[in-house]
Amino acid sequence: MRYKLYPNRAQLETLERWNGLHCDLYNACIEQRRKAWAKGKTISYYDQQNELPRLKEEMPEYQVLGSHALQETVRRVDRAFRAFYRRVRAGENPGFPRYKSRNSFVGFCYPDRAGWKFERGPNGKHGVLHISNLGAIRARGKPRQWGEPLRLTLTRTSHGWYATITIRCQPTRKAGNEAVGIDLGVEAVATLSDGTRVENPRFLGRASKQLKSLQRKLSRQKQGSNRWMRTKRAIARIHRKVANQRDDFQHKLTAGWVAKYGLIATEALKVKNMTARGGSRKAGLNRAMLDVGIGDILRKLAYKAAEAGTRLVEVPTSKVKPSQTCPLCLRQEKKLLSQRVHQCPCGCEMPRDQAAALVMLRWALDPWEPGGGEGLTGPVELRNPDHAAIAVGRG
Ligand SMILES: [Zn+2]
Repeated sequence: MRYKLYPNRAQLETLERWNGLHCDLYNACIEQRRKAWAKGKTISYYDQQNELPRLKEEMPEYQVLGSHALQETVRRVDRAFRAFYRRVRAGENPGFPRYKSRNSFVGFCYPDRAGWKFERGPNGKHGVLHISNLGAIRARGKPRQWGEPLRLTLTRTSHGWYATITIRCQPTRKAGNEAVGIDLGVEAVATLSDGTRVENPRFLGRASKQLKSLQRKLSRQKQGSNRWMRTKRAIARIHRKVANQRDDFQHKLTAGWVAKYGLIATEALKVKNMTARGGSRKAGLNRAMLDVGIGDILRKLAYKAAEAGTRLVEVPTSKVKPSQTCPLCLRQEKKLLSQRVHQCPCGCEMPRDQAAALVMLRWALDPWEPGGGEGLTGPVELRNPDHAAIAVGRG
């Protein structure tokens, strides 16, 4: 559950100072590991964790930060290096984990209940966050649910500090009882097996004009000047707004599906969806904003389905090939991307994305062994010949 924090001036200064200290610790850990790596040695998380007490002796300013929070920052370095080693082992040529600047350091985390306490406001709205050696900070937010607080993450953004509290709770979501296949795409965000299309909301549409003119303005201004900084902030604000709108849209969409369906068949989340990047940073950011975020939708869908008890069937699309398979007779034929309609000699004809959604639904209800060399043989008996209206009860 996420809250916006309203620290007073002194608290804000302290938060910023602590963030800087965490950042310095992070960078020191990176440096130590880099040097070791250059000598062909590796340093483990525990090697570094064991040095923390000495660090606190030599630099007393670290004493107020909380041991577990410091350990968590060391653990972040460890995670970065594990990912690095993994990629090295896989034969890739990854960049070394980087130093971070104090200005871009995103915050720190209390990994358990030590060092903080959250006091909820009346009716469960808002509240007060108590942090050791920092005091009580006003917090605003309306959590959907509440439970036992486990972990606190303090996040620093360009528009202030946020607290994310991880809680253990009994989810109260309810699942529906229909079954559906969902094809996620770029042209339409989603096409359901019953033919419903969810169009791609063009969040960037209006914003892109503003963004373009601001980018032009920025390029004319002196880098680092006050005006330049102001324009930068304005650009960040638009990006943030668009990101929030998209996030909101995705939450509503996936919550609606989970409330309606007891079984959802969709494509499996690919790692590629999560990390696809490339080109310059700006291009990546702009692209990310145009992107409908299939990976984001799948992730939101997955945890909501788990909360509600909706069965989410992740169809291995590389094997099943929903977009190349006839939902009626399972005949496979490659389609060009431009081919928007599925047409099969068996007589099945429907929009391409709906056909793909139906194939996934069919596979989820009654999986078959995908594709031998000659493809599938002959028509398969359909349990539900009225393929355009598959809707079944749970189980
Ligand atoms: Zn067919």
